[in-house]
Parts: sequence; structure tokens; C-alpha cells
Amino acid sequence: MTARPGPSTLAIHGPPHRLPDGSPATSPIVQTSTFRNPIGGEDEVRYTRYGNNPNQLEVARRYAALEGAEAAIFVASGMAATALAHLAVLGPGDHLVASRWIYGGTRELFDREFSRLGIAVTYVDPAHPREWRKAVRKTTRAIFVEVVTNPLMRVVDIAAVAKVTADRGLALLVDATMASPIGCRPLEHGADVVITSATKYLGGHSDLIAGAVAGSRSVVDEVTRLMRNWGPAIDPHTAWLVERGMKTLALRVERATANAAAIATWASSRPEFAAVHYPGLPDHPDRELTARLLDGAGAMVGLELRGGAAAAARMLSNLRVISHAPSFGGVESLVSEPRLTSHKALGPEERAALGIPDGFLRLSCGCEDADDLIADLANAL
Ligand SMILES: *Cc1c(COP(=O)(O)O)cnc(C)c1O
Repeated sequence: MTARPGPSTLAIHGPPHRLPDGSPATSPIVQTSTFRNPIGGEDEVRYTRYGNNPNQLEVARRYAALEGAEAAIFVASGMAATALAHLAVLGPGDHLVASRWIYGGTRELFDREFSRLGIAVTYVDPAHPREWRKAVRKTTRAIFVEVVTNPLMRVVDIAAVAKVTADRGLALLVDATMASPIGCRPLEHGADVVITSATKYLGGHSDLIAGAVAGSRSVVDEVTRLMRNWGPAIDPHTAWLVERGMKTLALRVERATANAAAIATWASSRPEFAAVHYPGLPDHPDRELTARLLDGAGAMVGLELRGGAAAAARMLSNLRVISHAPSFGGVESLVSEPRLTSHKALGPEERAALGIPDGFLRLSCGCEDADDLIADLANAL
């Protein structure tokens, strides 16, 4: 093959290569902590915490190909991936510039843990892109952004941020969990490191916790070293489940995106919603960025219900197909209230100022039939 295979092919096979006759069509699960080593052997010891179990290596090989990265590594959660990716490029005395629109857990990691390690963090509002350059100091080593934000589905111009990091010799780390690697491959837009919570779209069935980091061989080697010392290796069975989930990644994202588009269009016509946030809608503020940076508008919809918390509670208690649960990216549709989950720490005023009033619902569209999802929502209203 000459041309680079498409994302569906890469998610199923990784880089195409001929396998021996008699080899299994799917990877065997190598559920072992250790391996028989040659006596007196000088090669790297094989041990599952070291990340060199065949299931760990295989899922990483496929994911690296999908992201267009030199290398990748899977770890035990999205948070472990976020923590280790940053620690691979930052040390005591260093400064990180981060987007203000980020996952609550990541915000906690930066504010509570990084401060203890002597890593300073400055937050920038991505709505004011000139601020990126202004926030950079002498000690700045990296910039961190989420390309699609939770729960307002804003799209951050990572290509513009990549200009700043390239000019200043900084590392650009991008969490693209909300977009999935089908929707956005940040390395194609100038990012140096991509982070994903495989708990979401890669796994795709709400049945595992995992995370991954992809980038240059040297960054991934450093993350691997940190993983060996801090310990959050991924279990072989979980790595195998991620590999299996990835085989249907493109199909699932395609269906879930079509469902999200149908729901967003339907919800826009309903008087019960004060606003609908979906990058595929004509009135979304980031239509141009969506077209430039994303393949598809994604499977997440923000629904702003009139009537605040009481209206939300009423609606949620009437749902029969869509489950009230945090997380996203599975085949089953899930809905959550940011005021009680990701944005709980902020309080009502700060949330309202960010555009997340009480009554805001975040819907993760799954792979059910669109008509059934819309009927479930309509009935609940
Ligand atoms: C869920 C999530 C994480 C954390 O992932 P876990 O697998 O739950 O540790 C980090 N970033 C984003 C954007 C997420 O949605």
C-alpha cells in the first residue's frame, strides 16, 4: 500500500502487514503479569507493569497509527495519561499554559497536584486567542488544550495555538477525547502530544477505564519510564477490550454523530429548550473551526432546558432509553447535568457566567435508533 490507510482501516488493523498462516484473526489475551526470561539475557525484562505485554503493545501500535504518531502508550485511565504526558515535559520550576475550558478532573490535577510539584499553571480563555502568546513566560514549557470542550461543544483553534508553541519551542499537548480520533487527529494540526481517555470512544461500551498518550518516540519513551515508576500500567484484558472496541470506532462514531445531528435539529425546534449547543448547527459560533479541524461535528449535544434544575429533574426521571449517568462515548446514550458532575466545584454564578445555567443537560448520543432517542426525549418533556 502506498497511500496512508483511512481511519476505519487503521482502527481495525493498525498499519497493514501480512500475518503468518495459522495465526489467529484476533489477538489472543495474554493475561499474565510476567514472562519466562532467558537465563543470563541482557534484553529488556518482560513484565506487564513495564508496558511490554503483547496486548499493551498491540493496542498502542494501532492507536499510534490512527493518530498518525510515531508511538503511543496505554495506561490505566485517562487521568493517568494526562498526568504522565504532562510530567514527561514539565518539571519543578516549569510553567504550563492551559485552556480554561477543560475537564474538571484535569483542572484538579493541575491546581492540587502540579502546584505541590512546583509546576505553575496559568489559564487562558480560548475565546481570546491573543492571550495564548501573552501568557507565555520564560519558564513556560508547554501549552495544554482540549480541542472540543465540555459541555458547550466549543472548538478550540489548535492550529493557531500550534503556531505559538512552534515559535517559542514549547510542547503542545491536546486532549481530544470529546472528538475521538475519528473526529480529530491533533498531530495533523501541529500538536506534539495527544491525550485520550480510552474510557470513552476508543473502548466505546462503557465497560472499561483506560487512557492513552501518542506522539514522538522520545515523549512516549518518557511516559513509559514514568509509568514504570509510578505504576499505572493497563491490565492486559482491558488493553484487549480497547483493541476490540477500536474495531467499531469509526462505525460507532458515524452512527452516534448522525444521531446527535438529528437530536440537535429536533431540539432546536422545541420551545422547552432555551438553547442547543452542537457544532453541526448553523448558528454554532465555531462552524468554521469545525469544518477546518474536525471530521464531523461529533456525538455530544448540550441542551439548555428552560425551568432550571426542577425542569431537568422532571425530564431526567421520565427518560426510559437514555440513562442518567456521567461519562460519554459508549453505544448507550447517556445524559448528565454538569452542575452536579464536571462543573460542581464552580457554584451557580460562575457556571452561569461560563454559559452553563442550571437546567443544562449534556447528552452523549449512542448508537440506538435516532427515532427512539428523539421519542424518549419528547416523551420526557
Ligand atoms: C473522562 C475524561 C478524562 C479522564 O478520563 P478517565 O478515563 O476517566 O480517567 C480526561 N479528559 C477528558 C476530556 C475526559 O472526558
